[in-house]
Amino acid sequence: MKLAVIGTGYVGLVTGTCFAETGNQVTCVDIDERKVEKLNNRIIPIYEPGIDILFNRNVDEGRLRFTTNLADGIKDAEVIFLALPTPPGEDGSADLKYILKVADDLGPLLENYVVVVDKSTVPVGTAERVREHISRNTDREFDVVSNPEFLREGAAVDDFMKPDRVVIGTRSERAKAIMNKLYAPLVRQGNPVIFMDERSAEMTKYAANAFLATKITFMNEIANLCELVGANVDDIRRGIGTDSRIGKRFLFAGIGYGGSCFPKDVQALAKTAKDFQYDFKVLKSVMAVNNYQKTKMIPLIKEHFGGDLRGKCFAVWGLAFKPYTDDIREAPALENIRILLEEGAKVTVYDPEAMDNVRNIFGNSIHYAHTQYAALDDADALLIMTEWPLFRTPDFDKMNLLLKNKLIFDGRNVYELDQMRETGYTYYSVGRETVN
Ligand code: NAD
Repeated sequence: MKLAVIGTGYVGLVTGTCFAETGNQVTCVDIDERKVEKLNNRIIPIYEPGIDILFNRNVDEGRLRFTTNLADGIKDAEVIFLALPTPPGEDGSADLKYILKVADDLGPLLENYVVVVDKSTVPVGTAERVREHISRNTDREFDVVSNPEFLREGAAVDDFMKPDRVVIGTRSERAKAIMNKLYAPLVRQGNPVIFMDERSAEMTKYAANAFLATKITFMNEIANLCELVGANVDDIRRGIGTDSRIGKRFLFAGIGYGGSCFPKDVQALAKTAKDFQYDFKVLKSVMAVNNYQKTKMIPLIKEHFGGDLRGKCFAVWGLAFKPYTDDIREAPALENIRILLEEGAKVTVYDPEAMDNVRNIFGNSIHYAHTQYAALDDADALLIMTEWPLFRTPDFDKMNLLLKNKLIFDGRNVYELDQMRETGYTYYSVGRETVN
């Protein structure tokens, strides 16, 4: 099939590359000229494990190309994916300006019947709005389908190629047949393609993200209570995660969720509830707890240093909002660094993938280390903000030579308490006793 993907970010690039891999002819369109230039020079602008092999193969074989020209990009396309940003507006609702702008632009360019697919995460009713905006400028036949994306950054290629399920919202039999054909190669193991109406598909995406954010947040509150009652949240996690009704995943306590999806999607769902005069109490609590959780290490750090962080040096390991990505949108590390700087501390950071993105925000106000150990040189303490695997088994002897104090504030519970007792560190973590 001939496909167009509008918006070539984390979702668009993965969508385009993976559909090219299943034999489709894909053109990715983006307004960011620098991004398109990079892609045309085979530079992948994001870090995403495994995408490079698929990307290069499909560019080589002529199935994947990039352009800034919308008319050229959608020419003869049977399906047009919208993988555009939906950032939070001032009132928390998803801002649809990118989606509706493209919908307006598409109308005059349509020739033959086409399926326009919302892949972005969009509020209930958006498919109808997109349909209305396209119709303003054309009398050609088309359908608008809601096909929310569930991929996780860091595992995006695998998630896309072997989805747990595919959700498709449409009432058009013609669009349904086309979407079925497109996804057939990805669900050969029998994972379901679930059809529903557009509104339910839109709501499904928000419900999924809000549920996962709630699961994380619930566990963070259990962790906070564990600290007060003297229990170990890791044991609780193992104790409840083995219950198949609960499941093992998303139970790790820490300094809260971040990223480009959970915070904005929870906020947007809360706004939808408000618009419909529904008081969604659970979501309000999830947002409040996560805000608190993100910087809950700061009071501990201040207390440890007698309330004064001026002139103190902190090494920060991990900047991305989670491992295996360079994405720092809403990453807890950023807020913590900001507060440390405000308190007069010095900060040296290390992350295997996210350093360039952080440099764009903090510039010269912090230091950037080339290795995780270089970040420790003369630091008063180490802060762990992202659980990259390379932080899990460090060379503690080497660390001892570099750090001024054997002191770690671990926002991701990367180490076992016994291990910390053996190494002689003072070790603060989340939902577990402090090792002194
Ligand atoms: P992104 O910011 O990485 O990419 C969006 C791209 O759209 C950018 O490259 C931007 O230049 C481009 N763009 C903006 N206006 C354009 C226009 N008029 N024409 C062409 N291109 C244009 O965003 P993302 O992370 O890929 O997310 C896209 C959507 O998918 C969002 O709604 C998000 O909530 C949703 N989503 C994201 C993820 C994720 O893990 N990132 C997962 C599932 C769903």
